[in-house]
Amino acid sequence: MKSDFNKNLKIYNSLSGKKELFVPINKKKIGMYVCGPTVYNNAHLGNCRTFISFDLINRYLIHLGFKVRYVRNLTDVGHLENDDDDGEDKISKKAKVEKLEPMEIVQKYSIDFHKVMERFNTLPPSIEPTATGHIIEQIDCIEQIIKSGYAYEKNDSVYFDVLKFNKKNNYGRLSGRKLENMMNNSRSLDGITDKKNPQDFALWKKAEESHIMFWNSPWGKGFPGWHLECTAMSKKYLGDYFDIHGGGMDLKFPHHDCEIAQSEALSNKNPAKYWMHTNMLTLNGKKMSKSIDNFILPNEIFSGNNKFFEKQFSPNVVKFFMYQAHYRSVLDISNDSLIASEKGLNKLFNGLNLIPELDCNEKPSDFDIESWINNCYLKMNDDFNTPMLIAELFDCLSFINNVKKSSKNLNIIDKEKLKSTFKIFLFDILGLVDKPESNNTENKISSELIGLLIKLRNQSRENKDFKLSDQIRDDLMNLGIQLNDDKKESSYKIIK
Ligand code: AMP
Ligand code: ZN
Repeated sequence: MKSDFNKNLKIYNSLSGKKELFVPINKKKIGMYVCGPTVYNNAHLGNCRTFISFDLINRYLIHLGFKVRYVRNLTDVGHLENDDDDGEDKISKKAKVEKLEPMEIVQKYSIDFHKVMERFNTLPPSIEPTATGHIIEQIDCIEQIIKSGYAYEKNDSVYFDVLKFNKKNNYGRLSGRKLENMMNNSRSLDGITDKKNPQDFALWKKAEESHIMFWNSPWGKGFPGWHLECTAMSKKYLGDYFDIHGGGMDLKFPHHDCEIAQSEALSNKNPAKYWMHTNMLTLNGKKMSKSIDNFILPNEIFSGNNKFFEKQFSPNVVKFFMYQAHYRSVLDISNDSLIASEKGLNKLFNGLNLIPELDCNEKPSDFDIESWINNCYLKMNDDFNTPMLIAELFDCLSFINNVKKSSKNLNIIDKEKLKSTFKIFLFDILGLVDKPESNNTENKISSELIGLLIKLRNQSRENKDFKLSDQIRDDLMNLGIQLNDDKKESSYKIIK
């Protein structure tokens, strides 16, 4: 990679509404905070799109030579129904439904989320903090905000004073909302609430009798407000001011505008230099969302067990499909588009496999490999433009196919460059998998190999060579393959 590519990256900053040259706060080290999932149910494919987009951003920054501290939290308390300050906590509500402890819900769905992220071959974040693991830090933030004069206590809860904050600051500037408009459009307080104004938001909520998740605090037993965890945890691990803060578009308001307000109340600083927001994955033209029952789970796509699509699609294909749209564009998922992505991806993989077979003698005249490589970086440097990058990969594919068909030759240096660049973009940056797991030929060979070992084991048992037969059984077990001798014929089960 040419070293100056990391000086020409442009990122669309949601705060300015413009593409800006990326100039990191520290030369080599980048701090990136992405709002993670609320772990109260299985992450749907829409959630995955957001985290896959940030995986691409993380991967590309690493590829450019930056050292990235990537913090992505798990929300395990404080996110109430309807993203509001009243209502039940999403985690404890689910705990009651499933008759489990809230922390069992958190564990169950965190594991599911991690498994899904692994199947999509995303890199884990550097730190994955939880809200419940940072109650002390959140209490500390609240005390400081009260001291700064922008929060007040009422009936054992603490609220952020939006009106007071807005006198000197600009509340809502990320989403572009104006406080006066919000006030004109909101209903007046109904008397049940402790808030001075409907726009105020909770930093700490008193736990009512029925509330099962609570901690001691200077204001009594309660729990933190949803927006506070990200402020407390980003501050702890990335400092008062860091490079990138991201999340889905729907988090701009209130979540991110509230985060900005909290950070400005705490340290007079908007916490992030670049705010990045990913657009929504839609299904049948509507936002993919659990609350309107319009969603598909990743495993339902991988297994083909769903009502939407006619066949199964591998994580590689689904991920490639997502990258065929820019992360800031809405993307609608459909059977036809997945089939087209599968075909396209197969063509690219075939092209990659053809490169070693190309004859290599001289330099081709009609395709400049250097400028092709340059273009690939230019596309990524243009706010991570994956559809344009993929178009470049297809351009190169036509070239490969032409060389293959015609009597043109390719010299050995260009051949190696072509291959390594192709691999870098497909595997290191887009994070696709070299040997897709849906490769049926490989699956078939694996099961035949296991069958062969079972046969050898049975033979050794017949020959009373129990040492060998036990060793085969134990070694297979270590690989996560459990043999079952109950039936006449031994069967096996994959247990990990
Ligand atoms: P949640 O667990 O609801 O807090 O959501 C986790 C992340 O997924 C957030 O960044 C959301 O903005 C994002 N998200 C939710 N629905 C979609 C969707 N349909 N498409 C893309 N991202 C989404
Ligand atoms: Zn957040």
